[in-house]
Amino acid sequence: MSNGLASSLTNRQLKCEVCDCLINYPDTLLIKDTNYTVCRAFDCQRVMNKKRVMTPFMFKSHLDFNRTLIRKNREKSIATKQHIEQVTAREKQENELHLKNTLITNSHISENDIYLLTIPSGDSSSSACEKQRIDDYIKHLKSIIIEAENYDNASEVAYDEHHDAYRKRCAVENSFIEKPQLKKISDNLCTMCKGGCCASGKEHAYLSVFSMRRYMDANPDLTGHDILNIYTSHIQSESIIDSCINQTSSGCALPRELRSDICNGYYCDPLKQYHKNMLNIDAPKVILAIQRSYTYWDRFKLNVCNDVIDVALVDEHEINFTTNLSKRTK
Ligand code: SF4
Ligand code: SF4
Ligand SMILES: [Zn+2]
Repeated sequence: MSNGLASSLTNRQLKCEVCDCLINYPDTLLIKDTNYTVCRAFDCQRVMNKKRVMTPFMFKSHLDFNRTLIRKNREKSIATKQHIEQVTAREKQENELHLKNTLITNSHISENDIYLLTIPSGDSSSSACEKQRIDDYIKHLKSIIIEAENYDNASEVAYDEHHDAYRKRCAVENSFIEKPQLKKISDNLCTMCKGGCCASGKEHAYLSVFSMRRYMDANPDLTGHDILNIYTSHIQSESIIDSCINQTSSGCALPRELRSDICNGYYCDPLKQYHKNMLNIDAPKVILAIQRSYTYWDRFKLNVCNDVIDVALVDEHEINFTTNLSKRTK
């Protein structure tokens, strides 16, 4: 054994002086300062490192404060983990029941032909678009248009996450060239979902200097003023509450060519997984879409309702609702 603390382990189990967790044997070998015992958690080490430089009185109050904070945070993260596990287990059970019922009522389809996928739902309650939201959106548009005008073309725009989004969008579009059915099925699924992932578009709609400059490059005859007018002409009098300003009860009000690369190339994880699994299959499986009432971003938040609001078989031709749930709002 390399230090005294480790050798004393045979008699007693060491505990971290900050978070009170038991320190396992390999971690005791990492303890260099025999004046205190601390686990390998970064937060605990940060607190204990002050012991050397603080007076005992100051250190005690520093330790008491951080100990409470660290323990509370840990309790919170354990509770969050448990909540996620519970939600996931409950949803899995309900989904399997819906799959079973669908197979009973659609005896011509075998389980092997179905791909079960859970989708969120865009909120369908719209309200008059507030002046403040419109002002913020126009301010954002003006600022990216002015900045985009400073460049001669898109290749001059400093690299940021929007370049990655463009690359992803191109990759997605290429895969759709190989498998056009996947695009049709995805479009149908997103229509059913009504933009469950658009909730964070707020008043920027993910539009960036890079996407704006590319639009300018593709339309060299348009001035910045023309472009601003084109974008603002698509602002609707009503939009979905707490979602992107362009999200309306009938879907996105922006034509595809005006949307950001993030919007045009984004697919939620379950749909991306479906694309991946179906890429090497001749005929993509029909999707059993189980739609729940959360948006894509709040599934695991406490007090969020995850009820099933619709179930449908979705293929490249249609959305065939298999249930008659009273909660359907569309
Ligand atoms: S990508 Fe997913 S979350 Fe977004 S609209 Fe389509 S199905 Fe809904
Ligand atoms: S611009 Fe359209 S696709 Fe993009 S976040 Fe807004 S509503 Fe969704
Ligand atoms: Zn600790």
